[in-house]
Amino acid sequence: MTTMESLIGLVNRIQRVCTVLGDFGDADSGATLPTLWEALPSVAVVGGQSSGKSSVLESIVGRDFLPRGSGIVTRRPLVLQLHKTEERQQEYAEFLHLPRRKFTDFALVRKEIQDETDRMTGKTKQISPVPIHLSIYSPYVVNLTLIDLPGLTKVAVEGQPDTIVEDIENMVRSYVEKPNCIILAISPANQDIATSDAMKLAREVDPAGERTFGVLTKLDLMDKGTNALDVLEGRSYRLQQPWVGIVNRSQADINKNVDMIAARRKEREYFATSPDYAHLASTMGSEYLAKLLSRHLESVIRARIPSITSLINKTINELESEMDRLGRPVAVDSGGQLYTILGLCRAFDRIFKEHLDGGRPGGDRIYGIFDNQLPAALRKLPFDRHLSLQNVKKVVSEADGYQPHLIAPEQGYRHLIEGALSYFRGPAEATVDAVHNVLKELVRKSVRETEELRRFPTLQAELAAAAYEALERFREDSRKTALRLVDMEASYLTVEFFRKLPQEVEKGGNPHASTIDRYSEGHFRRIGSNVSSYIGMVSEMLKNSIPKSAVYCQVREAKRSLLDQFYTQVGKKEGKELGKLLDEDPALMERRQQCARRLELYQAAREEVDSVSWTG
Ligand code: GDP
Ligand code: MG
Repeated sequence: MTTMESLIGLVNRIQRVCTVLGDFGDADSGATLPTLWEALPSVAVVGGQSSGKSSVLESIVGRDFLPRGSGIVTRRPLVLQLHKTEERQQEYAEFLHLPRRKFTDFALVRKEIQDETDRMTGKTKQISPVPIHLSIYSPYVVNLTLIDLPGLTKVAVEGQPDTIVEDIENMVRSYVEKPNCIILAISPANQDIATSDAMKLAREVDPAGERTFGVLTKLDLMDKGTNALDVLEGRSYRLQQPWVGIVNRSQADINKNVDMIAARRKEREYFATSPDYAHLASTMGSEYLAKLLSRHLESVIRARIPSITSLINKTINELESEMDRLGRPVAVDSGGQLYTILGLCRAFDRIFKEHLDGGRPGGDRIYGIFDNQLPAALRKLPFDRHLSLQNVKKVVSEADGYQPHLIAPEQGYRHLIEGALSYFRGPAEATVDAVHNVLKELVRKSVRETEELRRFPTLQAELAAAAYEALERFREDSRKTALRLVDMEASYLTVEFFRKLPQEVEKGGNPHASTIDRYSEGHFRRIGSNVSSYIGMVSEMLKNSIPKSAVYCQVREAKRSLLDQFYTQVGKKEGKELGKLLDEDPALMERRQQCARRLELYQAAREEVDSVSWTG
């Protein structure tokens, strides 16, 4: 392959990448790719209606496949990609909107272009800016991307909206105003060049004539005695590129089914034998035009390779970091899947522990429960009411029964203390619940914060459910332990306290007096304050032991064995169930697939650019 072929082939293949990915520079596609599509040169055919645009395209391609005729025939842009294939390969065409269907009959290609146009516009004379994408694979074409556009007109005909003249012009302009667009400006020779729609638009978007190729068709239809030498020799209209004259098939030829080979031969003969143009014969005709275009494209592409390379590299970088964000594809074998799941669980567990041990916020809230919430709850317990004179009197009297106590009302004390202790159950349980809620919140947070888990909603849900279940078990155990601590206080009262009691009574005066005082208010008040100081002592103890038990049963367990049961469950799962756990968000899977495909194509494009730039 020559450098030129490979250069143009390169652009073609990159354009194909864009085509496959659906990136044509429309506003709503990806961010980087449209620029790449736009960075590549393309050739657009511009001219008045029936000036011979489609005919020129066909003769460049060397194949009949475009709808031609008078009136408005081309009503949607046709993006035509020519791919040169190996010798003796079967020629075929392919539409982007009909992937995997190979057309070998070019009459059917023409019909499909017509049908596809009608599908968008209806069988009217209306136009649509939505392009049809057609690829032709053939050993007889040069690598080239050409765009056939609806012809410029001057007035709307019956069945067309009034705005059609402007609509067509705007559509055509949107293609040719791009600085990378090479304009093939078609003017019929049997009309004054000064009235050429093609030249008018070309001059507007390319005033210096740097990217405009002037093509003069219908030389054979000029009035006898006139010729187009002023135009062809650049005297009427100066362009940087030479003008090329063309003789396409007439409508009569088309009706007679004159084939392309015969048409090209006739065209060659026309120039060779023409008294006016024989001296220009070597630079006239559609074959020469095709070569001229290719050569021009080569230099344009060569100049553009550095910017194309940097664009490709930038895109690859972007795609790679997107791939990292999306995560790599999941293993298909159950061993790999199990490995992945366990890895994800560990990642979650690590984050969960960071929340508890510090590094991430949340663990401090547990400390807050122990340091504020529990002491406050303990302080609020209604001991004042429980140890009110009235209640003390009542409890003590009830405990005494029909016989009043002698020195100290032992039963009364016991009942008062037991009654008071039962109040501690509330704060004990509340502490356990509060710790539970913090842990649960931390699980939820950690699931959210585990980046790697984000793509697996099913695993996320099951992992969270398993963790909640474990936390529930820890809570139950913790609740039992905390209540047991409270109950333990009630089951055996501290001996020293009782030892001290009679002495204290004696200290208050002589025993005789105290017996007399037995039913006085002072006596009951003393009992109340004794019980109160005992309860105070127990409260201090529980303030320390309840946190210890909650940490032991809940926090420590959560750090140690939050996912143990889940691991056992996962270990028992068969391949298919494991795969289900790793079900991904379908939208995300789709995005990854797209991204991977894009990356692959871009890497291939980079390799090609590299190889081409070295051979140049
Ligand atoms: P488009 O509307 O610009 O795409 O023009 P077409 O390619 O469809 O051509 C319009 C008509 O002009 C068709 O009937 C062609 O056969 C005819 N035509 C185009 N070029 C030439 C030419 O160089 N010589 C003759 N005699 N007829 C031509
Ligand atoms: Mg046409």
